[in-house]
Amino acid sequence: MNGSIEMTHPPAVPGDLQESEPGARRRTPRHAARRSAAVMVVVVALAAMWAGLAPAERFRSISLVETAQQRWHKGNLHTHSHWSDGDDYLESIALWYRDSGYQFLVFTDHNVLPNTERWETIDKTRGGRRAFDKLLEKFPDWVDHREHKGLHQVRLRTFDEVSQRLAVPGEFLLIQGEEISDHFDRLPIHLNAGNVREVIAPRGGDSVSEVIQNNVDFVLAERQRTGRPMMVHLNHPNFGLAVTAEDLAPIIGERFFEVYNGHPHVHNSGTEHHASTERLWDIVLTKRLAELQLPIMYGLAVDDGHNYHDMPSRESEPGRGWVMALLPELTPAAVIQALEAGRFYASSGVSLKRIDSSDRGLFVEIDPVPGETYAIEFIGTRRGYDPRSYEVLDRKGQPVRATRRYSADIGQRFSVAQGTSARYDFIGDEIYVRARVTSSAAHPNPSEVGDLKSAWVQPVPGPGCPPTAGPLE
Ligand SMILES: [Zn+2]
Ligand SMILES: [Zn+2]
Repeated sequence: MNGSIEMTHPPAVPGDLQESEPGARRRTPRHAARRSAAVMVVVVALAAMWAGLAPAERFRSISLVETAQQRWHKGNLHTHSHWSDGDDYLESIALWYRDSGYQFLVFTDHNVLPNTERWETIDKTRGGRRAFDKLLEKFPDWVDHREHKGLHQVRLRTFDEVSQRLAVPGEFLLIQGEEISDHFDRLPIHLNAGNVREVIAPRGGDSVSEVIQNNVDFVLAERQRTGRPMMVHLNHPNFGLAVTAEDLAPIIGERFFEVYNGHPHVHNSGTEHHASTERLWDIVLTKRLAELQLPIMYGLAVDDGHNYHDMPSRESEPGRGWVMALLPELTPAAVIQALEAGRFYASSGVSLKRIDSSDRGLFVEIDPVPGETYAIEFIGTRRGYDPRSYEVLDRKGQPVRATRRYSADIGQRFSVAQGTSARYDFIGDEIYVRARVTSSAAHPNPSEVGDLKSAWVQPVPGPGCPPTAGPLE
């Protein structure tokens, strides 16, 4: 089945499709030159890496399963608090996650880090008197409050203080992050940076793609400069209907995006004119692997919690989406390393026991809940797919800024099984395959009404994947 690997090439892409992307290609010549140089470096490095590998090494057999050395750890990578537009205190939020079975949590307020002295008038905070009273009740010995010029004020505890108080070595880890909240024109473009020590100002840019790339580049440069492990991911592409598959596919250095975000206004399932985040993912994967010689992009599930007092409701609440990472130890470096290596799955309610991938295919085993049944779908794109795409038009025939429409060849369902485990065996032309598990049970507090509990298994390259693409080590 692997004899054809050396001979595979990406299908030719008609030039007009590349040129017709709206807005995404405007760059200064200097930026374009820098970027094409960077692309060349990546392509050459990957080609050199693959060239020396036998098929068996290229498709390393990977088993994601608990052993004495590694355990599944549940984490949320997207959280808001009183430091920006959330309605609760860091310590109350951390306590909720700790009590709710999570092992790690990243605080990601908008364009701010919780590391300065900050006093807020209690009645003007989003959580108001209610959040303050709950804080006093949970932490009676610790709340720092005062009367100041006739106002009752509270000091927001810093990340370091909250981490010292609530983290438990080996059991519960807090990570400082930031939601870099940028924009292009009126389109919101948000990226989460994890494990940062200094606040990162949004970098801006002359197109949606350039804004994403500039922020990714900056975080990765900070990581290089400081030697500190950091991660960056693109948030909620359909928030403000801002980010298309064509914007996201060419981003260099971006390993992740949010395929599931718990905020009720992020359009995970798309709109009449806009692709769902899963559809967007398949287009991005196909373009990156088969056309752009870029590595796989992984899908994350996150909460994006802002509201903590009336659960469940239609506000943006915690507990909706998370990642399960297979970790040898609970540290920021181990979390980031596991996520970057694809040693995780995303979930909105389904737990998995085991994921195996190899040159033969992909195997998924569910950790079932009594009374629930499961559909396991294997999804991917085959070599020889139709790469053409079409602009989306509204009812008046006017073009819509949206992910273009592509053939059903892209992101097709290879197979579906009912049960608690299933295997997909490669037939030889798959560029990639991923799996989605859907429970028969409704999500108890979903992002969108009607969501079923789900899990997203990360894509793996198939035998039809061009040799210059694939996961970066
Ligand atoms: Zn956001
Ligand atoms: Zn957010």
